[in-house]
Amino acid sequence: APEPKRVLITGAAGQIGYALAPLVARGAALGPDQPVILHLLDIEPAKQALEGVRMELVDSAYPLLAGVVATTDVNEAFNGIDVAILVGGFPRKAGMERKDVMSKNVSIYKAQAAALEKHGSKNAKILVVANPANTNALILKENAPSIPAENITAMTRLDHNRALGQLSERTGTHVGKVRNAIIWGNHSSTQYPDVNHATVDGKPAREVVKDDAYLDGEFITTVQQRGAAIIKARGLSSALSAASSACDHIRDWVLGTPEGTFVSMGVLSDGSYGAPKDVIFSFPVTTKDGKWSIVQGLDIDERSAQLLKTTGDELVEEKALAQECLAD
Ligand code: NDP
Repeated sequence: APEPKRVLITGAAGQIGYALAPLVARGAALGPDQPVILHLLDIEPAKQALEGVRMELVDSAYPLLAGVVATTDVNEAFNGIDVAILVGGFPRKAGMERKDVMSKNVSIYKAQAAALEKHGSKNAKILVVANPANTNALILKENAPSIPAENITAMTRLDHNRALGQLSERTGTHVGKVRNAIIWGNHSSTQYPDVNHATVDGKPAREVVKDDAYLDGEFITTVQQRGAAIIKARGLSSALSAASSACDHIRDWVLGTPEGTFVSMGVLSDGSYGAPKDVIFSFPVTTKDGKWSIVQGLDIDERSAQLLKTTGDELVEEKALAQECLAD
């Protein structure tokens, strides 16, 4: 068997962490032949719950799980990691101003950047899940200058998978035959779920769905507001689907996207498709040999361009707010 890879999960005692650790231990992120050592980080108040997660991982006797490091020490957590899935963050509580949530989270991500810079391998692949995911990832990138920017990404794969799921339900087609939806921009309600390049069973999604009013209206709002709908139904935010999508993101990044398929990832913008530069923006990407590249040459109609601009403007504004928070 290959040498084990070290996979860090932060916020590991939280609800996404609880769904994510077993998936990674079963090979959902790095494949069925790759042993893993899980590094689980959480904060001091969650120490006991974290120990409970560690105990359950031991009790699950996973064949691929070569070890568990459960810790509240950021430096120990980042030491020697190959992959990091950063889920830990300060939750938005009722009555909190947006700037307060931003301020809490960007300071967490600035501190984690220092640990990453000091202890992480330059090749480590980083996925930020905690909200505001794109801006947290940007702060991480800006404060860990020795880590190549291409190694720092934000998760929009759950939104992407939600789009595929809606098209699957609407057309009665298995989700495995629905491909190439795109989530553009921010992992927030301004994201633009775009079906103009999506296919259902190899045919353009618009031709199969035959209802442009739905695709330009209800489809978009359903995907954008799915998180809230899950909270309403479950009384808790999505965790299983968030964990599953995080594994999809890492798996495709490491093992490559299938020929003819692209996926959505929040990556450092180079200005493609008129997106603002130097923010973490979700684009359609393909991956090969552990590297992503933004799909080029897709036609963008005027309506889409407008929606891309809205979500891009929000990211520029979030970036300014984050910088203001760090300067305070
Ligand atoms: P969850 O595990 O439910 O969520 C963790 C983070 O993922 C939140 O920022 C959440 O954002 C975000 N997220 C991104 N996408 C989604 C999605 N689609 N659905 C749901 N959440 C999403 O939170 P818990 O409170 O259960 O766990 C958080 C853990 O983080 C706790 O164990 C806590 O101790 C730890 N923590 C760590 C800190 C640190 O590292 N310094 C600071 C504070 C907490 P949103 O809030 O917008 O739902």
